[in-house]
Amino acid sequence: MTTTGREPLLSRNGQAVLAAVRARPRCSRADVARATGLSTSAVSMLVSTLISAGLLVELGVNHSAGGGRPSVSLGVAPEAGSLIGIHIGHAGLRVVLTALDGTLLAEQLHALDVDHEPAASLDRMASSTAALLADGIVDPTRILGAGVAVSAPVIDARSLGSPPMLLDWGGVDIGGILTERLGLPVHLGNDATLGALAEWRLGAGAGVDDLVYVMLGDGVGSGLVLGGRLHTGSSGTAGELGHLPVVSDGKICRCGARGCLETLVSKRALVAALAHTLGASASVEALLDLAEAGDRGATRLLGDAGRVLGTALAGVCTVTDPRLVVVGGDLTARPDTSDVLLEAARHALEAALPPVANHGVRIVRAALGARAEALGAALLAGTRTGAGLAPIR
Ligand SMILES: [Zn+2]
Repeated sequence: MTTTGREPLLSRNGQAVLAAVRARPRCSRADVARATGLSTSAVSMLVSTLISAGLLVELGVNHSAGGGRPSVSLGVAPEAGSLIGIHIGHAGLRVVLTALDGTLLAEQLHALDVDHEPAASLDRMASSTAALLADGIVDPTRILGAGVAVSAPVIDARSLGSPPMLLDWGGVDIGGILTERLGLPVHLGNDATLGALAEWRLGAGAGVDDLVYVMLGDGVGSGLVLGGRLHTGSSGTAGELGHLPVVSDGKICRCGARGCLETLVSKRALVAALAHTLGASASVEALLDLAEAGDRGATRLLGDAGRVLGTALAGVCTVTDPRLVVVGGDLTARPDTSDVLLEAARHALEAALPPVANHGVRIVRAALGARAEALGAALLAGTRTGAGLAPIR
């Protein structure tokens, strides 16, 4: 997406080098040359310029095990710039301001009927961003970009997949409008994919290069990190776990298919199941309150959801062979009740995994909570800055 309203801080190649180091902490100049396709001499010059500008730092000398020439590892100076991350959920917006390494600096939350109010939501995103920048926490001229996490498939990092899950957002050019309103490069990503990015870089999956992140919210999303890269698929829709068919004669899903995982495991599915006993007062909060108090029906509901999830994950794990499954989203917001769900999922996964694919994959609770997707959006902006639409690494 093109930038309007503000000159870029760096040359395109300078931005590409910065993005390469951002994506590979502790990499060497040779690593940057390989990643960017620039010559080693060009990279050396650009790195010197970026160090002089206070954007990059040298972290130390790496001695290779084979006795080759030592190399100097590079890192992005955390104070070199800042990022904006925005999560457009179904029930509200979260806008975060972070350092380049994803450290949270400030945050704003807004309850809003996002599904039905695209214009008001876009206004709020712009005013929230302006308010965060007006607080004086960071130098507003050093905001390098904004990322936006949306509850919809994102095709080619620009447009929402069809049919959009955000009900009234079909045809709304979120990236284009926000690029103009914010005066920043804006990059879109699927919220579960960006949750995976944040948990991988900053959360429960730190240091694990093969993981599946599952977001249990209004729907069920997932993001895949395979071989140290975010995997978004050939058209950007990889990880639509919620629409995996699990019951041949199940309920019709909002996507139009029958028996999808999210007809059994999402927040709305569990609240609907609880409505039989609680009526109109059924809600996720009521479900978690009851489960915390030891209510048998609520505990059973969470356990059943965990079992269905674990069985579905057996298929995902058989195909992708991850070391870790990180489960986040509203349904895992409370430690005690998430234990019920996750323990059932662990047992079901273990029972359903074929021996050939059973390598001790672990299921853990996400560490970043409801903030993961917004932080992932900020990290996306940091990774993409200057790197155009190159794959997220
Ligand atoms: Zn579906």
